[in-house]
Amino acid sequence: MIRKISDIFKAKKRTYSFEYFPPKSAEGVKKLYETIAELNKLGPDFASVTYGAGGATRGTTLEICAEIQKRFDLTCMHHFTCVGHSQAELKSILDQMKQNNIRNVLALRGDPPKGVEKWETSPDGFEYCYQLCDLIRSYGDFFSIGVAGFPEGHIDCPNKETDSKYLKIKIEHGGEFVVTQLFFDNSIYFEYLERLKKIGVNARVLPGILPITSYQGLIKFCNTCGATIPQKVHDIFKPLDGNDEATYKAGVDFAVKQCQELLDGGAPGLHFFTLNKVNPTKDIWERLKK
Ligand SMILES: Cc1cc2nc3c(=O)[nH]c(=O)nc-3n(C[C@H](O)[C@H](O)[C@H](O)COP(=O)(O)OP(=O)(O)OC[C@H]3O[C@@H](n4cnc5c(N)ncnc54)[C@H](O)[C@@H]3O)c2cc1C
Repeated sequence: MIRKISDIFKAKKRTYSFEYFPPKSAEGVKKLYETIAELNKLGPDFASVTYGAGGATRGTTLEICAEIQKRFDLTCMHHFTCVGHSQAELKSILDQMKQNNIRNVLALRGDPPKGVEKWETSPDGFEYCYQLCDLIRSYGDFFSIGVAGFPEGHIDCPNKETDSKYLKIKIEHGGEFVVTQLFFDNSIYFEYLERLKKIGVNARVLPGILPITSYQGLIKFCNTCGATIPQKVHDIFKPLDGNDEATYKAGVDFAVKQCQELLDGGAPGLHFFTLNKVNPTKDIWERLKK
């Protein structure tokens, strides 16, 4: 049954969700549905599909979300950014989501497109995510709205405290839950929850989990998003650089330990960045005491 994530939360203390990205080719999309069919055997509560910064795969996010819901009867959350869109365009895409019964949106500002260094607001577009939350909320209660959270502070924000205050504004403008950027040190997540609680944010904060499958890939990704790689991660993965099998095994071991600690510490679930692959998420999942 397709539900709003806010309604799933009412029924479940913990949720498990799998994030996918839209492939560039039709062949890739076909393979993605095979991956989703396999991962669905694990019984996730919902899926989510990212929204490309460059534009090439943007239209397919909606198609894939609609197809996931139709083919698998699984609730799907559409990631949605303000990049390159006027308010009228954003509204027209929300109308299409509504027509397709997509009831969950991860509202995001987005990053500047490749090659553009600083954020520039589109003509008649939005500068910040909370404005997109307002637009989505103008549809009343049709959509459940998630927002992004940055336990270490967003890369462009001067400090964690200010960043948390901005998160609070997103919640005040309709955000109902938070999905975090990846992190590898759980104390960063638990400190974030404390910081949010102190300023009155009690929304669910779902930790984003990235299974490490490549040391070089990890460094590249963290350089762009600003997430810290703790020394313990370098110590484990640097000596394995180039050995795919050993990196994979260590990545699964690391994620199992990280996820178990999060669940044992009271995290309200896990949101896996699957990278459109079956095995890392499946192998981690099967070793967790949930
Ligand atoms: C779980 C997750 C999923 C993501 N999925 C996608 C995706 O599918 N596609 C994609 O392109 N990107 C995605 N991103 C990346 C995201 O778009 C970028 O990190 C972007 O730079 C920030 O988006 P935001 O919604 O947090 O923006 P905002 O909350 O608008 O924040 C942007 C910047 O402005 C500051 N700010 C926020 N509010 C205010 C305010 N009221 N006044 C002044 N300053 C403010 C913030 O501190 C930050 O520096 C994802 C991130 C996460 C964590």
